[in-house]
Amino acid sequence: MMIAVLGSTGSIGRNTLGVIRDFSDKFNVTALSTNSNIDILSQQIKLFHPALICIRDKNSALDLKSRLNLKNIKLFVGEEGLEEMVQDKRIDKVVLAISGASALLPLLKAIESGKDIALANKEALVMAGHIIMQKATHKKITIIPIDSEQSGIWQCLSSEDKNKLKNIYLTASGGPLHKISRKYFKNISVSQVLKHPRWKMGVKISVDSATLMNKGLEVLETMHLFGVEPDKIKILIHPEALIHSMVEFTDGVILAQLSITDMRIPIQYALTYPERLANKLPNIDFLSVKKLSFQEPDFKRFPCLGLAYRVAQDEGTMPAVLNAANEVSVSEFLKNGLDFVSIPRVIERVLNRHRNKIAPDLDDVLEADSWARREAYQAMQKLRH
Ligand code: MG
Repeated sequence: MMIAVLGSTGSIGRNTLGVIRDFSDKFNVTALSTNSNIDILSQQIKLFHPALICIRDKNSALDLKSRLNLKNIKLFVGEEGLEEMVQDKRIDKVVLAISGASALLPLLKAIESGKDIALANKEALVMAGHIIMQKATHKKITIIPIDSEQSGIWQCLSSEDKNKLKNIYLTASGGPLHKISRKYFKNISVSQVLKHPRWKMGVKISVDSATLMNKGLEVLETMHLFGVEPDKIKILIHPEALIHSMVEFTDGVILAQLSITDMRIPIQYALTYPERLANKLPNIDFLSVKKLSFQEPDFKRFPCLGLAYRVAQDEGTMPAVLNAANEVSVSEFLKNGLDFVSIPRVIERVLNRHRNKIAPDLDDVLEADSWARREAYQAMQKLRH
């Protein structure tokens, strides 16, 4: 099977290539893409010999050209380049490991050209889940989730009647601030946020894990992937992070998916589905697990959760607005331009100012996204005064 890995230099991308290397008799890398990380991309090109590469940043693309002989490789540049590359006939499956809203258009192009999708990105589904799922159904392609919770739900539901679903329990480790009192939140630093207790991840998702917006985005992701109403999606804080999600049926039976906390497991399943292949990863040792604990999420300390449920009820362009305002606030926080507690404040201000458009088409979604980005900058200015 020929695989395209979009966002190959990030955390999920590198893990995906690791899995592909472990099963090199089954998978080949046709295409790789990065924003600007040409150091890692060069190494990946030498190891995997892709036929196609895409670099989003023009200067980095020129840089790579001067460094590496790209004789047998077709180089694409920029966002349009990525949208063109994913349509290449040689690609069977596209792994979407790009973070943020910029994954939306390449994802839609990949679906339109009939590729199966292994999806790690959640922002695209949050913004335009109804459009993505409709297109996927129309094209008869499968979107297999890589996000560990969604992979868990996918596996629990695989042979079940979805009409008999009662609740979905989305588990959350609680993030790096789980045990920290709200009075310290104002001075939370970037480095504190980047230390996650259970998962090693990219910077954007690390901040989202600290605000619990990551879980909020997952509520929206679950809604679209499995066609479930938001009031049936319950969040459970589960610090041991061994249960990746649970599904409850109308007869009271609950199925849970457990595995060690290693992203290579959901990545592998998304690549090999519906097959399961033996790997060399460690297993859960139940006797060394002292307990599995569960708590209610704290909506007061983590207002992003409530905001996510709010837009999940509203639907329309509200989720795209939430996502865009979050992306802007998070990137500003990472540059030390916004304090931690202001992230949900900025998002809430922008949501309050948005006039929701129900059943939006792609243009409406993209317009709401750029509107919300501008509004988020204004909201940040106001909060500073
Ligand atoms: Mg997750």
